[in-house]
Amino acid sequence: MNPHTSDLLSFLDASPCNFLAVESLRKRLEAKGFSELSMADAWNLAPGDRRYVVKNHSAIFAFVVGSDPLAGFRIISAHSDSPGFRIKPNAEMVCAGNVLKLNTEVYGGPILYTWFDRPLSLCGRVILRGKSPLKPQTRLLKIDRPLLTIPHLAIHYNRSVNEGNPLSKQRDMLPVIAILAEASEAKGFMTNLVARELGVNVSDILDYDLTLYDVTPACRFGINEEFISSGRIDDLMMAHAAEEALVASLDGENGAAVCPATRVMAIFDNEETGSGTKQGAASPILRSILERICASYPGAGEETVLRAIAESFMVSADNGHAIHPNYEAKQDPTNHPMLGGGPVVKINANCKYMTDASSAAVFRSICEEAGVEVQTFVNHSDTPGGSTLGNILTSQIDLEGVDMGAPQWAMHSCRETAAVADHLSTICLLYTSPSP
Ligand code: ZN
Repeated sequence: MNPHTSDLLSFLDASPCNFLAVESLRKRLEAKGFSELSMADAWNLAPGDRRYVVKNHSAIFAFVVGSDPLAGFRIISAHSDSPGFRIKPNAEMVCAGNVLKLNTEVYGGPILYTWFDRPLSLCGRVILRGKSPLKPQTRLLKIDRPLLTIPHLAIHYNRSVNEGNPLSKQRDMLPVIAILAEASEAKGFMTNLVARELGVNVSDILDYDLTLYDVTPACRFGINEEFISSGRIDDLMMAHAAEEALVASLDGENGAAVCPATRVMAIFDNEETGSGTKQGAASPILRSILERICASYPGAGEETVLRAIAESFMVSADNGHAIHPNYEAKQDPTNHPMLGGGPVVKINANCKYMTDASSAAVFRSICEEAGVEVQTFVNHSDTPGGSTLGNILTSQIDLEGVDMGAPQWAMHSCRETAAVADHLSTICLLYTSPSP
């Protein structure tokens, strides 16, 4: 197996939610000589410096400082979050027979059906009492063993289930976690569980953000193992490709031969709910980081960052849809991205994507130089598609760029499918510097 592919599978398994995806990226970057910067620190940067900023434990921005601020930024963006189920506060609900289920709230737009009858567990972050009320501590939690399931109703109680069965997020989708000896054990059940798992006192737990995840590991399948099956392929496949490409671009680059442009990897949170948070693409966080980088060059003035942005290019990397073998008519009649046919550039007449003919041309040339086939995605005209990071970012930063991604099936399913080949070709083209 190609090392990038086995590494992607381990990355997906280690990253069952936004917080853990960012932690996985942080560890990988640290291993390659990147060190953390806080927005609260004074920044002293030099060309070649490898640094990263984490926001809210759920977004991460890594960069390699270029030798010339006016060479601009080469930015790859992707997102850390995926649709799913968040545990509500006071989640414990005791049912007949002292079966304990948990109250949840849907995050983003998951395909609800795909979450039934799977071994699930819990992951996320827990906030503990700190030195002062304004400085609580954060601990990450990933319970590795199966703990829950969302049981489907037997077909004998609903013979028409296969003819379409509307689901209530509040009634139908609640996971069970225990058969209690006494109903009274439900009180404080979640906090006690979290305290045991982290080895902390119940009284130190102030709050948590926990979500469900499928404990079945990511895998390859197909007669030639050409497919990848996992949760969160949208968009952790692109986050992983961006990180792998960034690291690969550093090979042999020490001190003297630093690239003139600053390479930036921006992994935002909350794309699935519209990006409108302090760690999302609609926030000023990326712009603030670009300003701070520019301000660190000797002799930089107010214009430096604006001139740098004018020379910049962004690849907004978020997976797209491949033509589906059972629903070919859903796809545009003349543009048919195939699984395994290479990354797609996404184009929309109503500007839901930032791609235009000019930026698509730049991207096609980059792919050509990298020897990578590129496909084109447009929506079937009767089916409005989703939006993504690119255009949201341009409301904060005056950037040129494209929206692209690997083609995949079953976007927002608990298990999505993509092709090994598209992951590898995406790594090949990100952060390659086209010849002038
Ligand atoms: Zn996405």
